[in-house]
Amino acid sequence: MLRPIALLGFGDTADCQSALRTPHTACILSSVSYLRLRMNPVALITGASRGIGRGIALELAKIGYDLVINYAGNQKAANETAALCEKKADGLGRAIRAAPCQADIALGSDRAGLIQFTRDQFGKLDLLVNNAGVAPTVRADILAASEESFDRLININVKGPYFLTQLAAKWMIEEIGKVKGLGVPEPPPKIVTISSISAYTASTNRGDYCMAKAALSMLTPLYASRLAEHGINVYEIRPGVIATDMTGPVKDKYNKLIAEGLTPIQRWGTPEDVGKAVVAIAQDLLPFSTGEVLNVDGGFHLRRL
Ligand code: NAP
Repeated sequence: MLRPIALLGFGDTADCQSALRTPHTACILSSVSYLRLRMNPVALITGASRGIGRGIALELAKIGYDLVINYAGNQKAANETAALCEKKADGLGRAIRAAPCQADIALGSDRAGLIQFTRDQFGKLDLLVNNAGVAPTVRADILAASEESFDRLININVKGPYFLTQLAAKWMIEEIGKVKGLGVPEPPPKIVTISSISAYTASTNRGDYCMAKAALSMLTPLYASRLAEHGINVYEIRPGVIATDMTGPVKDKYNKLIAEGLTPIQRWGTPEDVGKAVVAIAQDLLPFSTGEVLNVDGGFHLRRL
């Protein structure tokens, strides 16, 4: 016969696990309690099939996060990221699961599907990383650039993360509400948005990108202010020049600029550099900071004389 045991009686996960091993004993627990204690933390990373998103996924895999690997169209790359993450974690003695999920973050129905997928696969969300973003298909002078390009960038780079954050935040609040009162010590969930130095740097051949990133930078102060009462900290990471497919077409230009001293730290940034900043946030190393911007740009933002 099964004998129910209240979760509140357990001091920690090990107690609960040993109780579960006891014959004729089982824990009857709510969806957030035992499962939350036992499971890996879960991160949803948008645009994780390639580039910076993949770098973030790999760094989170190393510290034992289960991952939702979102992508727009490149399924092969997303599967590859997932496999690499699981292998990386395995090499460090950690068992994680990385699940690819196609969703165009510009579309409301896809955003809802992405959150539902995360619920179905993992049942919780500890970290949302708004990373997916696009550059204009054609770099065009602001006197000639098209409205189509502007709309595309605003939809993907601003509207997508803004409303995905809304969905994720509501779910996080709902889950925090369930844990409250159970006395379960749980690291609070967090939200990170990857913007760009283009949020404050004018590039007249891609005004749409700069406008979109400047708008995106308001996401963090808004949600940081709104979510602090729930214990959810919100951060922005502002990468500089990072070696990915996005910067592939302008590689020679940036090679030259970096060699000429564009950044005090004289090298290209890597997806791993951004991933490490996300890990610092994920590990709760900035508990009394919210709405904060982390520049991961080799010092690009410094004014120098
Ligand atoms: P990337 O190599 O071009 O990768 C873009 C990623 O976003 C891919 O995973 C892509 O999926 C995904 N994606 C594109 N549109 C999407 C959509 N509508 N819905 C969902 N996913 C979508 O770009 P990256 O250089 O890694 O850039 C990542 C983020 O960092 C972007 O927000 C970018 O603006 C920002 N950033 C980049 C740099 C840099 O120097 N690279 C600097 C500052 C900021 P698919 O593989 O399926 O296409």
